[in-house]
This record gives sequence, C-alpha cells and structure tokens, in this order.
Amino acid sequence: MTHFPLLNPMFQNVIDMDLTSTQLLASETLSKADSWAKVAYLAAAVLFVLSLAGLSKQTTARRGNLLGIIGMVIAVCVTIVAMLSAGNAMAVYTMMAVAITAAVVVGAILAARVPMTGMPELVAMLHSFVGLAAVLVGISSHIESYTDVPAGELLIHDIEIFIGVFIGAITFTGSIIAFLKLRGTIGGKPLTLPGRHMINLLMVAACVGLGVWFCQESHNAGGQSMTALLVMTGIASLIGVHLVMAIGGADMPVVVSMLNSYSGWAASAAGFMLKNHLLIATGALVGSSGAILSYIMCAAMNRSFINVILGGFGGGGGGPAAAVEGTVSEFSVDDTVDLLEESNSIVIVPGYGMAVAQAQHSLAEVVKILQSKDKQVRFAIHPVAGRLPGHMNVLLAEANVPYDIVLEMDEINDDMPETDAILVIGANDIVNPAALEDPNSPIAGMPVLEVWKAANCVVMKRGLATGYAGVDNPLFYKDNTQMLFGDAKQNVDAILRALQGN
Ligand code: NDP
Repeated sequence: MTHFPLLNPMFQNVIDMDLTSTQLLASETLSKADSWAKVAYLAAAVLFVLSLAGLSKQTTARRGNLLGIIGMVIAVCVTIVAMLSAGNAMAVYTMMAVAITAAVVVGAILAARVPMTGMPELVAMLHSFVGLAAVLVGISSHIESYTDVPAGELLIHDIEIFIGVFIGAITFTGSIIAFLKLRGTIGGKPLTLPGRHMINLLMVAACVGLGVWFCQESHNAGGQSMTALLVMTGIASLIGVHLVMAIGGADMPVVVSMLNSYSGWAASAAGFMLKNHLLIATGALVGSSGAILSYIMCAAMNRSFINVILGGFGGGGGGPAAAVEGTVSEFSVDDTVDLLEESNSIVIVPGYGMAVAQAQHSLAEVVKILQSKDKQVRFAIHPVAGRLPGHMNVLLAEANVPYDIVLEMDEINDDMPETDAILVIGANDIVNPAALEDPNSPIAGMPVLEVWKAANCVVMKRGLATGYAGVDNPLFYKDNTQMLFGDAKQNVDAILRALQGN
C-alpha cells in the first residue's frame, strides 16, 4: 500500500480504495501534488536553515530574517493549497479563515503595542502557545481514529502522542510562570521546597508509569487511555510550574532560552503526530538552536546547565550576601561632559535601563561627536544585558551604531584598566563587582564587565535601586565611580546638547 505521510490522512483513504480509471487519474494528480508539496516543504526547511545562519551575524541578520519570512510564507501557502484536495474543503477553509483572521488581528495588535522592553514577556507568552498547541494536537490525535496508522506503527504513534503532550504541558505552564516572572508579577526569588528534587523525580516517575498504562490501554475498547493522558497532562503542567518557580531571577536568561528550546521540541513532537515533515524539521531547528543558546547563556553566567534546570540557584551562595555600604559621589551633566572631553578612550556599557529610557538614538549622536574629536569610543556588551539575548545589539543596530565598535564582554574586558572613562547607561547586574568579590552573592561567579578597573566610571541611573537579580551593587560606592542620577534619555540628551554647544 502506498503511504503518503505528508498529506495524510486526507489522501490515504483515497489511495486505499479499489481504483477505477478516473480514480487512478485522481490518485496520480494527488501523488503529483504530494511530491510538489514535499519539494516546497524541503525548500522552506532549507530557507529556515539559511535564515538561522544569517541571524548569527549582525551584518547578515536582515537577510536571515527575510529568508525566514519567505520560508514561512511558502510553508503556509503550501499547507493551505494542500487543503484543496480535502473532501470537505469548504469546511476546512472556513475553519482556517476564522482561525487565521483571529490570529492575525490579535498578533498585529500585540506586536504594534508591545514596547521593546516588553518583548521578553511576549516571547515567553508565545512559547506557552506552542506548548498548548502540542497538548491540544496530542489529545485530538488520540481522540481521532487511528485508521491511517499502519498496525506496526501503533505503539510508536502512542509514544509520539504521550511524549508530545508531556513536553507541551511543561512548556505551556513553565512559559506562563516565566512570563509572570519577567513581568515582575512573581518575584525573582527561587521557590525552594524541601525535597524538591525528589518531588520532581516522583512526578516524572508517575508520568512514565502513566505512559506505560496509556500505551497498554490505548487500543482496548472502553480503555482508560484518555484518563492516563489527562492525568499525565496535569502532572506535567505541575512539573513546568515547579521547574521554573525554582529558578532564581539571576538565572532567568537561561530559562527564556531553555523554554525556547522546549517549544521547538514540542512543535517537533506535534509534527510527528500530524506526520508533517516540515513541522518536525522546523521544531528540531528551534529546539536545537534554543539548546545551543541555553548553553551559551550558561557559559556567560558561569553556571552549569543541570544546576540551572534543577533550580534553587540564582538565589544566593548559602550565607548572607555582604552588606554594601559607603558614600556615593555624584556627577552633574557638565561634570560628565568635562570628563568625556578630557578622555581619549571611552567605553559605553548599555543595560536594561537604556532600553527602558530609549536612549540609544541620542547616544549614537553623542558617539559620533566624540569620534569626530578623535576619541576612541567603543560599546561593551554583556551576553545577558537587558531582558533578551542580543537585546542591546538590537537597540544599537536600530540606532545605526557601527558594528565594529560594538564588542562582546570577552573582547573588551581586558582593556578596562587602560580606559579613561566608562559610561554605564542603565546597567546594574552586569557591572556588579559582588559577582567576583562576594561568594555569597546570588550572582557569585557570573562574569561581569569589570568597569571599576577603568580610571573613571560614570553610572547613569535614576537612583540606587537594584537590577533584575535584586542584588545591591558595591560599584556605586567605589572611589572612581560617580553617579549621574536621572532618566538615561534625559541625561544623554543633555550631554548631547552640551557637546553640540562646545
Ligand atoms: P539590570 O536589570 O541589572 O539593571 C537595570 C537598571 O536600569 C536598574 O537598576 C534601573 O535602576 C535602571 N533603569 C531603569 N530604568 C531606567 C531609566 N529610565 N533611566 C536610567 N536607568 C534606568 O539590567 P542589566 O542589563 O545590567 O542586567 C540584566 C539582568 O536581567 C541580569 O540580571 C540578567 O540575568 C537578567 N535577565 C536577562 C535576560 C536576557 O536574556 N538578557 C532575560 C531575563 C533576565 P534605577 O531604577 O535606579 O534607575
């Protein structure tokens, strides 16, 4: 029997029938359509790979984005056209039109409204949708009759459904908790229940047991397979909540990339259930690139991936963190301009506050003026600055800051002692010396930009508030640090006006 995995179950019933000549013709047409769909899906998958390759460098990111868009348009169009051959095409198209219209309206409104600082929450929320979709696809695949699944593949299909729903449920609830944490609705402190590793282990063991029961009951008339599936969905949802609740604020960057990875695997699992090769490939691309990103984030924070996942970290090294005391020295805008005028080498460290204030455009103008005065000006980017991987790079690219003066932490940290002036704009955790000096600090061991080693350091923020990790910062009290208080945009604008006037 010919089996068409891509467009099943629509075509499969047709092919199984005793074919008359007209039907043979129809089957040939379908076969051709199936082949074309496969070629188009392959082209889309290749475009997604090229897109990821393009996105890995700032200079090629726009092209990467475009290739991804083209790949997605092909994928959506081919899927829609493939529905033409469905027996009840009209009903299918009506359902699709309603779903797509609703999604486009909601998506467009959300995208237009969300500020750059709200992107991490939006991304976390979108990950939760992928998880929920995998759960719904899994449950509906189980409700559907298995007539199109060959007898020898029934067990594999059951396992696909069970694993897909398991990953989907963890992604769904984990992403909702991440959304609430990034939003500040839930505090950054990790929830460390006594015996939490044992609780996780027991929940996973229960899911494995339910999986065995599910597979045994799945094909018994009147069996309890749906009960097993739904109970597991409940337990996996609890695992998702517990896993992310146990992760401290300082480790949230890894959670964001980890959930990105989970959402990819959930999509891939849905692809197996729907027998859609493109969904499998796309999910695997997202899953593996998210896993690589998680690894990079862990390396940037000097954490082991397993420690982050098991949680409880990012909340402190055990003992109380050292008290931060001292006297704060203040700078005015004029003092800052004088310092910039006297300095030859200047490093700018942007952080989340720059994104909040939207100071990047004025800052780019300041940089141009300083460069025209023959000063060396460079940006230092910490891998977890802001609230999204690459957050600062995006803002600086938006302000047309040349890529060659934007350096990663590893490229510039050794130059700090030879730097005349450092401007820290709305950054806090990523320049906190406690990470290196206080073993009990919640961010102990995290590599930071060692700005205090420069001759002078000006920190621009509104007050002495802590950053996302909720850790006090001894940098503000160092002898060579001056605080320029106020909104970053207003202060950068004032510096720009002063420099233009000179
Ligand atoms: P932080 O959150 O440590 O600090 C940002 C600072 O900006 C605040 O202390 C705040 O101080 C200041 N600020 C806020 N608004 C303004 C404004 N309008 N003008 C001037 N200053 C302002 O940011 P960092 O970038 O230094 O560090 C990122 C943190 O976020 C790390 O802890 C990281 O682990 C975490 N994180 C990162 C993610 C990622 O993927 N990059 C994801 C999730 C979390 P004040 O109120 O006094 O002005």
